[in-house]
Amino acid sequence: MNPADENRTAQVLAREIHERCLSYGRPLRLMEVCGTHTMAIAESGIKSLLPDNLQLVSGPGCPVCVTEKVFIDQALETGRRYDACLVTFGDLVRVPGSSGSLAGFRSEGGSVRVVYSPLDAIEIAAKGAPRPVVFLGVGFETTVPTVAATVKVAKTRGVTNLFVLPAFKTIHRPLEVLAAKVDLHGFLLPGHVSAILGSDCYRYLVTDYGKPGVVAGFEPLDILVALRDLVTLAASGSPDIVNDYRRVVRPAGNPTAQATIYEVFEEADASWRGLGLIPGSGLKFRPEYASFDATTRLQVEVPPAKDDPRCLCAAILTGSRTPDKCGLFGRECTPEEPVGPCMVSSEGTCAAYYKYGLAAGR
Ligand code: SF4
Repeated sequence: MNPADENRTAQVLAREIHERCLSYGRPLRLMEVCGTHTMAIAESGIKSLLPDNLQLVSGPGCPVCVTEKVFIDQALETGRRYDACLVTFGDLVRVPGSSGSLAGFRSEGGSVRVVYSPLDAIEIAAKGAPRPVVFLGVGFETTVPTVAATVKVAKTRGVTNLFVLPAFKTIHRPLEVLAAKVDLHGFLLPGHVSAILGSDCYRYLVTDYGKPGVVAGFEPLDILVALRDLVTLAASGSPDIVNDYRRVVRPAGNPTAQATIYEVFEEADASWRGLGLIPGSGLKFRPEYASFDATTRLQVEVPPAKDDPRCLCAAILTGSRTPDKCGLFGRECTPEEPVGPCMVSSEGTCAAYYKYGLAAGR
């Protein structure tokens, strides 16, 4: 589609959203669950096209943002105590822990390697043996299959100095918590996670909580179509799950990737920034792969971490605040000098507001 046609289509979709919101006549509050959607919505200026009675709030789908500060503390202590090489995706490097960040650790002489694929950690471990190499396991069902595949390859190759510090999260339990406790009329469901899990798996949102959900892609028109459909469902009083990202997401998802996850990991409780401890919302190693578990093989003790009480990341991740309500936003907290993870991550809501100059949260 050429830019002129895209523009015309966007205007038609925006008009349809306005018409449905107008006929509904009351405030509608929808959550985009995924951090990539948050960034895409900010970048495309979609919020400026929406009617006043439609509010879009961000959710807990930025993996770096929902990872608690104590995880950074554990990673740093593991690096210091065992002289371990810490391997991570780039987003985590500048997230503040209680005693600095991974970037600070590196500037003190510690070893931190940024990778684009967890598989790179195998070569780093093989070349650096016997030094321990610790992959920092942050992510959702989108990331976990490649980490699980990495662990399987490492086991087959007999790599014994590679470990994973797991802080993985799974998406369904927090959605249930939000559906039950937060004033929301529906969910814009994550495209990447749904490529693994499928679109059928969200049915509980309808049957147990009466909330609609629409699986959305990431192009501006994908998001507008999904919003149009979500507004239609929310206003109709007949909730349903709709898959608007059918070119990528199948009803049953990717069974091979799902099987890979659960061959290596099993369900565990997990602690979320903003949502607290949620039973069954994380992953831990199965006994057959326990030799890769950094939490047991490279044990460290760190004191409980305290977040800066002025940082509103916890409230932002549950849609109850927007970044412009934080007194530190753009002053003491910037992408160069971040106070909380929502300002660091490329999927963080504060980073999106800062980068694209969004004002009052709609
Ligand atoms: S602007 Fe900074 S301090 Fe405020 S909520 Fe966002 S990350 Fe936290």
